Formats: sequence, structure tokens, C-alpha cells
Amino acid sequence: MLDIHQIRKQFPILHQEVNGKPLVYFDNAATSQKPAHVIEALTNYYQGYNSNVHRGVHHLAEKATHAFEESREAARRFINAGSLEEVIITKGTTEGINLVANAYGRAFIDEGDEIIISTMEHHSNIVPWQMLCEEKGAKLKVIPINDAGELDMEAYEKMLNERTKIVAVVYISNALGTINPVKEIIRLAHKAKAVALIDGAQASPHLNVDVQDLDADFFVFSAHKVYGPTGIGILYGKKAILEKMPPYLGGGEMIKEVTFEKTTYNDLPYKFEAGTPNIGDAVALKYALEFVENVGKDNIARHEYELLTYATEQMQDIPKIKIIGTAKEKAGVISFVAEGIHHFDLGMMLDANGIAVRTGNHCTMPLMSRFGISGTARASFAVYNTKEEVDIFAKELKKAIEVMS
Ligand code: PLP
Repeated sequence: MLDIHQIRKQFPILHQEVNGKPLVYFDNAATSQKPAHVIEALTNYYQGYNSNVHRGVHHLAEKATHAFEESREAARRFINAGSLEEVIITKGTTEGINLVANAYGRAFIDEGDEIIISTMEHHSNIVPWQMLCEEKGAKLKVIPINDAGELDMEAYEKMLNERTKIVAVVYISNALGTINPVKEIIRLAHKAKAVALIDGAQASPHLNVDVQDLDADFFVFSAHKVYGPTGIGILYGKKAILEKMPPYLGGGEMIKEVTFEKTTYNDLPYKFEAGTPNIGDAVALKYALEFVENVGKDNIARHEYELLTYATEQMQDIPKIKIIGTAKEKAGVISFVAEGIHHFDLGMMLDANGIAVRTGNHCTMPLMSRFGISGTARASFAVYNTKEEVDIFAKELKKAIEVMS
């Protein structure tokens, strides 16, 4: 059993009132809150050893480099990557996908090739592939979904052929909460000799991720959804693939030797880390991942699933509410609409009572179109949320609907 009270104590931001009511933070799929250790790690870095990494012999530079590389090791362990060379520090999921689309895509995608994504992708796993397809004359194919928000795996299997080069699919949908069968998706992609990229932005805070067990070629996630800082993320790539990819950005750090005639590139992972990185936030990432490890991923998943079940049951009793996304395999996200009421108004009414939910299209416009809606209100849970908060949410949601009906 998790001691949620003890966990909540570690998150200073949770202990405040919003609009005269205790804050209920249900916007965790957008970004999660940060434990005190993560915030302290940032302050300690800037107050104690701020320095550029990998370039200095002096004490502060060595300390910063050590802390930076410790975070890489923490990330490696977190997703069970085989080596540190396979762990590239990025700005986040979006940059990780763009890096692969640009570096891998430019080198290995040709006219007539095919890239497969799914209907439930975040814009960051749509647009980079569209840009690549436009540039190369390649074709983007989209796996359809059923009304519950589950992938049509039969349709996916039929889409694969000798022209398929990349399959890029989200592990957990940020808009629906659906957990996709990514291991099977990857197995089928490999059978067609395509590489597979998994968008792990929502999976990394909620599931035990093992990139070797999944056999993912690329796996991306953002620190800020895993109780870490914004502006930092991880791209995992298989060493053999990363080695044959050209660099993405050129500049300092990613080189071995520069002359005006020819530049040689640095070894992995530095080949893909041009310029001064976001050191402070990278350093703090380790503390976020350690927080998750200490609480235990299985414990977190169990707790969030209980909240999901509890909240879903409560919402089923509220008139006019329709939940969008009813997959059998689902994580702690509830997207919903209320008949005749705009999702934005629902969000405002909840906010007036201290409850933070997200409203809009959740960066998944094509998915919203699939359901014939412009957006939803979305409640999403983290380890520090409680059943009492769900009770408050359900009560205020019911009241809001009564008022606006
Ligand atoms: N993919 C999914 C499933 C997401 O939920 C998000 C963020 O909302 C992203 C990608 C983009 O992540 P970031 O904005 O941190 O790059």
C-alpha cells in the first residue's frame, strides 16, 4: 500500500488553494508536478556547480559533467537500455521524434517509401513524418481505430509491405488513455523489415518500460511528464542504427575534429548532442527518475488504475457525460464531453473550484475529428492524486453540468 499522504508531502505545489479551494491537480498528462528533491537539485546545481559540461578540467566542470552523465545512467536504467551510447539527451519527446525524422529519415527514406503512424498520435508524432514525406515523396499511412479508441491491428498488419520503412506509434494515448500493444506492433514492423519508434511520453510515468524487451528501435520521452523538469528528454536508439545515422544538428560537442575541408563526428551519444545542453534540467532528471523508482512503477500503475476505475464509475452516474476512449487496456486518463456544453466552459467551471483539468484537442486534432468532436475535457492522474480528490471532482462536475444545462 502506498502512503499517499507521505508522497504528497514531497510536492510543495500541491499544498495551495486555487480560487479559495484546495488545488486538485488533474492535468498530469500535460505535465506532472515536481517533488522537492527535483527542485533542490536544480537550485544545488546553479548555486553549487554551474559550469559547462565535457569541456573543462576545473572542479566545477568536472562536477557538472559527472552529474550530467549520472542522469544519462539513470535514464538508461529507467528504460533498461543496453548501453549509455544509446541514450541521447534531448529537449523532449518532440525533439527526439524530429531528430529521428531528420537524421534517419533523410538518410534512409526514398520516394515511394511508406511511413505508418496511427489515428491517435500527438501532433509531434504526425507533423515531422508529414514534413519528411513531403520532402522525399514518401507516403504517410494511418492505422485506424475502433469506437473504443483501440488500434485496428488487422488493418495495421495489412498496411505493412516491402515499402514500409518506419512505424511510429504512441505507447499510451495522451487523449484517450489507450495502452497500445506496442510489442506486437514492433514485432510486425520488424517482420516487414521496418524500424519502429515508440512515443513513450505518456508511458514513461505510468508503465515499466523495457526497451530491450520491447525490441524498440527508437523510444522517446519527456522528463516533465515523469515528475522532472521541462525542456529535457531522452531519445533511446539502438546503437547499430544510431551509428549509421548522420548527425541532426552540427556544432560544438558533436565533432571529433573540424577542418575547413572535412569534419569528423564524435562517438555516440555525443554525435547527436550538439551545443551546450540544458545541464541543470538534465541533472535534475536523475532525481525525478529516482523518485519514480523509489515509489515503484508497479505501485504507481496500480494506484493510478484504482483512481481511473473509481473516477470512471463515478462519472458514469453523471447525466450528459460521455467518456471518449473506453479501451480495455487503459491508463489514468479520462477524456469526456458533456452533451450541449462546451468543454472549455466545463474546464472554467472546474477551475473556479480549484480543479485543474485540460480542455481542447490535446494536440490530437485528427483523433478528435475521428470522434466527430472539436475537443474534450480531460482528467489525468498521477501518483499523488487521491480518491478524495476524485470525489470533489465528480461532485463539482455534476454541479457544473446542472448549472449549465
Ligand atoms: N507525445 C505524447 C503522447 C504526448 O502526450 C506529448 C505531450 O503532451 C508529446 C508527445 C510531446 O511532448 P513534449 O511536448 O514534451 O515534447
